[in-house]
Amino acid sequence: MASLAIIGGGVSGLAAGIYAQLSGIDSEIFESHTIVGGQCTAWKRKGFHIDNCVHWMIGTKQETETYQVWKDVGVLGEGKKILRHDYFLKVNIDGITAHVWRDLDKMRAELLAIAPEDEKEIKKLIRAIKHFQAIKLPSLKPKEQMSLTDNLKLVLSMLRAIPVAARFGKMSIEDYAKCFKNPMLKALIANYLPKHYYVLATFYMYAMFSLGNADLPLGGSDMITNRMRDRYLALGGKISCRKKAIKLTVDGTHVTQINFEDGTVNEPENIICATDPDVTFKLLGQDYMDDFFRKCYSDKKSYPIFSEINIYFAVDISTDFLPTMEIFNCEPYEIAGKTYSKICMNNYADQPKFAPEGKGLIQILIDQYEDDYDYWDNLYNTNREAYKQAKSDLADEIKIRLEKHYPELQNILSVVEIVTPKSFNRYTGAYKGSYMGFIQTPYVKKEIHPGVLKGLDNFYLAGQWLQTPGGLPNAVITGRFAVQRLLKRNDKINTFCCLKNN
Ligand SMILES: Cc1cc2nc3c(=O)[nH]c(=O)nc-3n(C[C@H](O)[C@H](O)[C@H](O)COP(=O)(O)OP(=O)(O)OC[C@H]3O[C@@H](n4cnc5c(N)ncnc54)[C@H](O)[C@@H]3O)c2cc1C
Repeated sequence: MASLAIIGGGVSGLAAGIYAQLSGIDSEIFESHTIVGGQCTAWKRKGFHIDNCVHWMIGTKQETETYQVWKDVGVLGEGKKILRHDYFLKVNIDGITAHVWRDLDKMRAELLAIAPEDEKEIKKLIRAIKHFQAIKLPSLKPKEQMSLTDNLKLVLSMLRAIPVAARFGKMSIEDYAKCFKNPMLKALIANYLPKHYYVLATFYMYAMFSLGNADLPLGGSDMITNRMRDRYLALGGKISCRKKAIKLTVDGTHVTQINFEDGTVNEPENIICATDPDVTFKLLGQDYMDDFFRKCYSDKKSYPIFSEINIYFAVDISTDFLPTMEIFNCEPYEIAGKTYSKICMNNYADQPKFAPEGKGLIQILIDQYEDDYDYWDNLYNTNREAYKQAKSDLADEIKIRLEKHYPELQNILSVVEIVTPKSFNRYTGAYKGSYMGFIQTPYVKKEIHPGVLKGLDNFYLAGQWLQTPGGLPNAVITGRFAVQRLLKRNDKINTFCCLKNN
């Protein structure tokens, strides 16, 4: 029996496994699904490759700490290709277009040409993004293991960003968009991330992209997961799939037993739980939920969640001519009584293995929130046929609007796959289908979870929900941190990554 059991084989669980093996800890990952990867996943449908995760990944710049972590876990490094686009997003409002360019001077010039009336705000925006390039995601040590010098160095390196954070920290994306007069600029600010986020999230995203630290690994989500899985197995780790944990037994301060749905039991020395915390506290019992999570789950205004509908269309010709990612306004359409008037299209033309030769694949992304999840969940549970029909009707509506916006696509589009927030919940246990952590609103203090629970001395947490806003970098980092916490508690931190160069 392995001395460390890791429940959940998503990016955080795989990272925990890799760092455990590198530190000489014998580990086993137990995953409920048939494959590892969790939300970072892809599958085949009708001859196409459906990538249902990554559009941007923080940590692609070599000099950063996060890059080092991606390298440790086998995702990045020599010979591992990264796609670097000239622009992250194109926004098209009534035929006028603007871009989030990697080159920020080009972006400023384009925005000034579109909206000279917003000159002052445009200059402030570009300055804020440039200053936010100094923001760093500490990725090598959990915060309680950072020394005074580590902290000082971090703060000093981010000095440029502090005035921006102080000035805009209390503003949501929605509030900030109102600073602009021009509708195109409002759309550029408000149309990608959910409007409840504090606007610093937008600055951060554009800053990291312009810095070359938020690009896309060639091969996408599948490649991320497969490389991590292979690295873990090569280090001697063991993966057991179709192993759904259903109960954790606590005796005093020890979690002593994991019960699985198939009737088996495991009694490891230590456990890292890398499931969605909603699952974790169901396994452990709600009494173990600490104030951090209690607050997040109960104060829905300050800690909202979001999800997506993803519709994939096969295109009978190559989609080289389409933009990489475009948001455009369209005739209104409805989902569950709510009206939508924009479409976000993601084009996979530069991922050569996603579509058969000479064909293309595009993805449509539609924002969904907690009440939308409830709609899909209810439909799925009460009337499976109506659920399928609602998905298919929506895809038909979207197809009409795509054909209008891109006349070249007329009569050559067919639906390949439709994913709803319910799908994320069904396959990974994601709370209300949320695929990131809680949204960072301007109303709350930014906190990081300590990764351990009071009263349990052999139990550690990993996963994106510990560090908002979640996402792949926070998932991979918290896997590393969980192993560092385990070693520190057992006075073995000097063995962390001791086998790394062997
Ligand atoms: C559509 C979509 C787009 C995204 N885009 C991006 C992006 O562009 N950039 C980015 O950084 N991030 C993106 N993300 C988010 C990213 O995928 C997640 O942040 C990350 O994969 C979370 O990893 P995790 O290990 O924390 O959790 P999860 O992936 O949720 O892993 C938890 C694992 O635990 C397993 N599990 C659950 N219950 C049990 C149980 N009872 N027993 C055993 N195992 C169990 C689950 O099956 C799962 O494998 C996206 C996600 C989605 C879905």
